[in-house]
Amino acid sequence: MSPHLYDMTRGCIWCSAVESFEHIWTCPRKVSIQQQIISSSKQHLVQCLSVVCPTINSQHPSLIHLFVHNTWWSLVYHPSQFTFVNFIKGLLPTAFVSIVHTFTHNNQLTAEICLNFLHEVFITSQQLLWLSRCSALIDQDQSKGITR
Ligand SMILES: [Zn+2]
Repeated sequence: MSPHLYDMTRGCIWCSAVESFEHIWTCPRKVSIQQQIISSSKQHLVQCLSVVCPTINSQHPSLIHLFVHNTWWSLVYHPSQFTFVNFIKGLLPTAFVSIVHTFTHNNQLTAEICLNFLHEVFITSQQLLWLSRCSALIDQDQSKGITR
């Protein structure tokens, strides 16, 4: 029998926990990378909002309010609360959209800023977590002599 090309039962490449979609983004071994993704996403949102509000910075009262939310900016798994994993999935809480709208007063601009933010979250999380996970998997396969 030839070796399995992909073993569905193999655990997380970083910590060997059972790998779920959520685990890829919330692995406890990747906390500093997760913090980097969250902080660069916040910075990107401030940049997007500066298009409509040139003097904005992260100390703006509405942004302080937005950024202290206790689950939105956490890469943890939660069965019912909105967490940063949902941003990675391309979802936004209604309250988030409303806060953006308080800066733009314009539905089209609100949609553009929200989509731009989600795109940045997607790209950053793909680059820093997904691609590094894939290359670690490839390295592990090669070290076991499995090639595709
Ligand atoms: Zn893990």
